[in-house]
Amino acid sequence: MISKNIPLLLTNVSNSMQISFIIAALISIIVAILFFYGRRKYLHDEQMKEITYIDSLTGIWNINKFSIEAEDILCNKDSRNFAVLSMDIVKFRYINDCYGHEMGDSVLKYVAQKIEDNLYEGEIFARTSCDKFVILAEYIDQTQTVERLKDACLQLENFEQNNQTIKLCFNCGIFVMEEQSDIVLGLDKADIARKYIKGKSKNSFAFFDSKIEQELIRQKEIEDGMEKALENGEFVVYYQPKIDLTTMEISGAEALVRWDSSKHGFLNPCEFVPILEQNGFIVDLDFYVLEQVCALLKKWIDSGIKPICISVNQSRKHLSNSAYLKKLQCLTEKYNVPSELIELELTESMFFDNKEVVVKTMKNMRKLGFVLSMDDFGSGYSSLNLLKEIPIDVLKIDKSFLEETETSEKTKIIIEQVVIMARKLKMKVVCEGVETQEQADFLKKVYCDTAQGYLYAKPMSLMDFVETLETQKMIS
Ligand code: C2E
Ligand code: CA
Ligand code: CA
Repeated sequence: MISKNIPLLLTNVSNSMQISFIIAALISIIVAILFFYGRRKYLHDEQMKEITYIDSLTGIWNINKFSIEAEDILCNKDSRNFAVLSMDIVKFRYINDCYGHEMGDSVLKYVAQKIEDNLYEGEIFARTSCDKFVILAEYIDQTQTVERLKDACLQLENFEQNNQTIKLCFNCGIFVMEEQSDIVLGLDKADIARKYIKGKSKNSFAFFDSKIEQELIRQKEIEDGMEKALENGEFVVYYQPKIDLTTMEISGAEALVRWDSSKHGFLNPCEFVPILEQNGFIVDLDFYVLEQVCALLKKWIDSGIKPICISVNQSRKHLSNSAYLKKLQCLTEKYNVPSELIELELTESMFFDNKEVVVKTMKNMRKLGFVLSMDDFGSGYSSLNLLKEIPIDVLKIDKSFLEETETSEKTKIIIEQVVIMARKLKMKVVCEGVETQEQADFLKKVYCDTAQGYLYAKPMSLMDFVETLETQKMIS
């Protein structure tokens, strides 16, 4: 009986072992699958976090992570005060253009590392976009913040790679958080302060204040209103006579734009031209001014009045526009005025863009018959080298130069020599900003050709200008 049941028993035992083995195997597979998926999810989450929170180029936090952490710090801060700093690298685009994007990337990594080295405990930072970094820094007072920034900029100043040294400068806008914990608002205001100083080519820092806010509101209003103003004829051309210092007659005039705004009152160009330069609208405005001048010249010619040469200011923005020459030509043809009656005033800042293109365009402008002048000569970056290369008919000595003639003998010598040099280079010299009889006498003594300034006349409306021309009443 027993011997009969043994195989059965053995069969049962081996069955239950098989079942246990299968169950164990199944459990292991399930655990493995769960582990595998869990791990995958973990890795995926980590990857997502990295994409969401980390700047892939520098490996530092991006704006998302910065905002979360900053909010946390500001909500839980003890007695410490914080400021938000918004920094960017001055002319970073040039670094990319001149040295290549790889070098640009290395600069950004270098800056990220240096900022990190300069942080105190509890301070955080991030790269928000391209060359922009934000920092939440402890704030004690303005002086201490500026000193810290100056010190950091000094450390960051020289980027060296492949035996090349790139000088780095920074613009930094600062907003002090005080009781504020809204980091989005802090970032906005620090950005606004930074944009306010944008364009300066050295390390510059600005604290957000109500003055900046007001100016930016005004800037926005100007930008919002400019197109309608042009359509509505709110831009008015004023004329300032130029005096021939030999005959003491009006030999020409400079067209200077004003904005007779229905909303803001009567605005001088220094209030709106820089804004229009920035957004490019100056190109349209310059053509509007030129058209007014062409219309005036045509009117004179048609009425048998002997026309005089009128100069118009031309923004550097034109030179990068391939249609510029064609548009100049079209306008003179439309009004049928000789281009020799139009002087185009250009500034040296034009040559920062692309010297070769600018020189080529100037040669073509001259071929079209326009008179070309170099405005504000002697201010800022005047380079005698430039005079060698560019086709210029007239040098306009900047008014700041003339201001010094009363106090500086050296300035007088320089003006005199500029006149001699210009004559040898077959250029005429106009001196602007002539305010006193002494200045005028000095200019006559050194044989300067032409003078322009308040001594003779301020810029005036067309009606007054025509009347002045008829009577020539301001000449002394
Ligand atoms: P700018 O081309 O150097 O023009 C000369 C400026 O000096 C004018 O200022 C003129 O009114 C002023 N000025 C003339 N004589 C004297 C003087 O004796 N003393 C002093 N202190 N100033 C004198 P304005 O009309 O305010 O123009 C300022 C600047 O705005 C111009 O400087 C020019 O850069 C720009 N601008 C004016 N009109 C236009 C325009 O139609 N297009 C462009 N792109 N810029 C323009
Ligand atoms: Ca000018
Ligand atoms: Ca000038």
